[in-house]
Amino acid sequence: MDKKGAILILSGPSGCGKSTLLKKVYEQIDDYYFSISTTTRDPREGEKNGVDYFFVKKEEFEEDIKNGQFLEWAEVHGNYYGTSLKPIKKALVEGKLVIFDIDVQGHEIVRKKLDNVVTSVFITTPSLDELEARLKNRNTDSSTVIARRIENAKHEIKSFQKYDYFIENDNLEKASSELISIAKIARIKSKLFEKEELIKNWLGY
Ligand code: ADP
Ligand code: 5GP
Repeated sequence: MDKKGAILILSGPSGCGKSTLLKKVYEQIDDYYFSISTTTRDPREGEKNGVDYFFVKKEEFEEDIKNGQFLEWAEVHGNYYGTSLKPIKKALVEGKLVIFDIDVQGHEIVRKKLDNVVTSVFITTPSLDELEARLKNRNTDSSTVIARRIENAKHEIKSFQKYDYFIENDNLEKASSELISIAKIARIKSKLFEKEELIKNWLGY
């Protein structure tokens, strides 16, 4: 049977380890497409346009909103972030596992629009203190930016039960093995399969 396009959404406070965990996942799965978001925030050192994000000016982002380019968009930590619809549609038609790293607002929107194909996971650190330690240790953001992310995290955690799965990223090996399992299971969600077509084929006429 052909692989069906599916969506895996990862959310969790900035600094909990989503990007680190995804690198581990990519070593173990194939046929995936990471959704590159568009954002108005400044690139961090080492980030590349078109790889980590599409970095745009506020006016350009607002124009894209007006033109209906986004599957979802939200204001997070004072910047715009959004997922363009076109590449997602293409990847789904090609039967890929489409991976999103989006915030809790984006998750709610995509769930409402594409519930049948979505599997979601909320990831966090063992504690808020550990989150702060990781953000400081990562050394990519100013103390003002870190403070804002910590404040936001206190709200984001309240949404964890809206997700199918929950991962505490304490031990990296354990957490990545859990995420790999979820990425695999996302591909066999029963609602991905067209009911009438599957039954017809299975019956043999
Ligand atoms: P996010 O993508 O969620 O913002 P990152 O993947 O950038 O988070 O991780 C934030 C920081 O925490 C990085 O410096 C990363 O190396 C570190 N980190 C990730 N997972 C762990 C872990 N399990 N234990 C300790 N540090 C971790
Ligand atoms: P960062 O600036 O650390 O890369 O990301 C900040 C937050 O924005 C994270 O919670 C991340 O999941 C979220 N985010 C990144 N891209 C998108 C997007 O396209 N849409 C939404 N809604 N959130 C996003």
